[in-house]
Amino acid sequence: MALLPVEEALRRIVEGVPPRPAERVPLDDALDRVLAEDIAARRTQPPWDTSAMDGYAVRAADVATVPARLRVIGAAPAGHSFQGTVGPGEAVRIFTGAPLPDGADAIVIQEDTERAGDEVTVLESSGIGRFVRKRGLDFAEGDVLLGAGRRADPRAIALAAAMNHADLSVHGRPRVAILSTGDELALPGSDPGPEKIIASNGFGLAAIVRRAGGIPVDLGIAADDREALAGAVAKARDSAADVLVTLGGASVGEHDIVQDVLVAEGLSLDFWKIAMRPGKPLMFGMFGASRFLGLPGNPVSAMITARLFLVPLIHALSGLTETRSGETNARLGADLGENDQRQDYLRAMSSIDPDGTLVVTPFGRQDSSMLATLARADALIIRPPFAPAAKAGETCRALLMDF
Ligand code: AMP
Ligand code: MG
Repeated sequence: MALLPVEEALRRIVEGVPPRPAERVPLDDALDRVLAEDIAARRTQPPWDTSAMDGYAVRAADVATVPARLRVIGAAPAGHSFQGTVGPGEAVRIFTGAPLPDGADAIVIQEDTERAGDEVTVLESSGIGRFVRKRGLDFAEGDVLLGAGRRADPRAIALAAAMNHADLSVHGRPRVAILSTGDELALPGSDPGPEKIIASNGFGLAAIVRRAGGIPVDLGIAADDREALAGAVAKARDSAADVLVTLGGASVGEHDIVQDVLVAEGLSLDFWKIAMRPGKPLMFGMFGASRFLGLPGNPVSAMITARLFLVPLIHALSGLTETRSGETNARLGADLGENDQRQDYLRAMSSIDPDGTLVVTPFGRQDSSMLATLARADALIIRPPFAPAAKAGETCRALLMDF
């Protein structure tokens, strides 16, 4: 199979993905879920003209010339309206959030007054509408302010509450089964034998899945033999996850049997091998009703391909439509040679130039096993296929690290 361009691979992975069915959850459980329907305001906010400050509700005409002495005829704390009407020469003591009394058309702030008994002296004039929040300033009943496909972030949750919604319809969280493969793998914290390496990918992947809004399902580690793998695949089938991810065994070596075994177990393979670095050997297909992603075993390759392909897939399954690519323009901090046919994702450190430009400088070593470098990097420089050599100072594309 030819190497597939990154964009084409991504398109094929997310194309036609049905979002998980919706469920209703209380506001407190809605954080980071994706809204399954548009949300309209159930009331107008503020519901009436309201004071923006502590002070006195007055008729602006009465305080056009100052000082002006007014008779205080009542009070309106928040949550209580003053029942009468403010007439000429009168004022009502008012507090932030209280409805503006009938007859009043301006607020004088407390700091600009002197109070003596039931008389207040206004020292600064105030125009019509001053310090008054008009009814509906924020929104009106029926306004659709949150759209289906938006992530319920803290701002959305606050707004939904203000719109008088106690619960929200959100899409179910996609379940992502993760299977690590390799005879050499031992769990962190164990006492690995001399020929073992620590299995880090499954943990990194589970974290990426959680942060993307999915639920990781750990299928453990399968040895590099057909029987072990077939057994693990049977577990994967039982888990009925939305996505099955395998880690490792995706390359061309004779121990890379993931593809063989999965095809024998019913995988319908869409593509294998992407024109990118790190992460060339990447499989995608359908395994029963689950989407299947076979990610490379090299830890940096696994993490970066998960960010580029698994995260958008989880977003699509979550119903998320308002997404950002995380890509930006930046200035190169070092010279780069010309690129071959694979799109590069170079681990880099960013800084801000004195003129405010984002500068990204790649690490000298870009080995796909180097997790320490990945952890230090805060950006990936994206080098398109066949990019010509570039000098420090030239513009490039960068993906700011968000995982
Ligand atoms: P593979 O794709 O299975 O040939 O693996 C490529 C490299 O990644 C090998 O050095 C593996 O030991 C390593 N590797 C594979 N799976 C994991 C894992 N889960 N955690 C850490 N390293 C891994
Ligand atoms: Mg392996």
